[in-house]
Amino acid sequence: MKAVCYRRSCGLAMEEIPVPEPGERTVLIKVSDTGFCGSDHSLIESGLLADGTILGHEVSGVVENLDGKSELLQEGERVIVRPTFCGHCRECLKGRPHLCGAYRRTIGIGDLPGAFAEYVRVFPQMAIPIPAGVDSRNAALAETFASALHGIRVSGSEGGSVLVTGGGAVGLAAVRLLKLLGFSPIVLSEPVIEKRALGESFGADFMIDPLTEDIRRKGLEWTGGIGFDTILECSGVGENVPLALDMAAKGGAICMIGILFRGITFPHPMIMNFKEIRFTGSYSNTHGENISCLKWMAEGKIDARPLISDLISLEELPEVYRARIHPGKALKVMLRIGEEF
Ligand SMILES: [Zn+2]
Ligand SMILES: [Zn+2]
Repeated sequence: MKAVCYRRSCGLAMEEIPVPEPGERTVLIKVSDTGFCGSDHSLIESGLLADGTILGHEVSGVVENLDGKSELLQEGERVIVRPTFCGHCRECLKGRPHLCGAYRRTIGIGDLPGAFAEYVRVFPQMAIPIPAGVDSRNAALAETFASALHGIRVSGSEGGSVLVTGGGAVGLAAVRLLKLLGFSPIVLSEPVIEKRALGESFGADFMIDPLTEDIRRKGLEWTGGIGFDTILECSGVGENVPLALDMAAKGGAICMIGILFRGITFPHPMIMNFKEIRFTGSYSNTHGENISCLKWMAEGKIDARPLISDLISLEELPEVYRARIHPGKALKVMLRIGEEF
């Protein structure tokens, strides 16, 4: 089968490799579409990936050769894959498989290769059936929305004013979900004009360019001088963290959805005490959150497809990575790999 592998010598490379053997407890999924995630980019840039790793976890596809290995799935069923599950560790037993300590993930840094390939091998417990009316591209991006939903849930907030810093795919998904969940006003801070425009169409009440406008002053204006009840940091820009402390309301919540790989300094950490801020981080997403997002897609309440900036073949990925993803020009690259539905 065709697969895009990470090579330490040259980065991403198109290769011909054997179709994975379905193991004793795993099943094969014939991949339809796979999205390229910001975390795939971070992993490639980190220099920590093993030679030959196959990335890709935002995947839709069809179950093949089930061989009675799961009562939950059917042969030919359309599914997405939630990448982590062992079923035995403390986190899996507590219903938090996204924090699984065994680290079995389709993204290739665990013991399973990912879905930048024609087939992917998964534990049946990772597969989530796609409801009728959701196509393969929308379904592949349910995970992006589920990550945003997870951040909203982890923040503990259920309404009120909210600032989203960073209008990448997860930040924009957060805007759409916040609108659906009744948060108001919703403010999106994002320097790229095209992403702000998408934010507006997804339901943001106000957009701001943080590089040219005074976000502190505007934020106070939009919240009646109180500050934001909730701030979701989706940009991965370190300076946005002390900014969030300044801009939060008393008793407000800040959730770090974007992952920071470098240290940051807090010039005024005591703000956290004075305002009694709840400061949390979120990681990945749960089965339940994916199921909710797929359901909302089926009901027409959310649609991930406007996020797709580049629709390409697997063969094109190494070049598109160099030309569009690495320099930050693509919002969401979607790979058409197998038969779409
Ligand atoms: Zn992802
Ligand atoms: Zn586990």
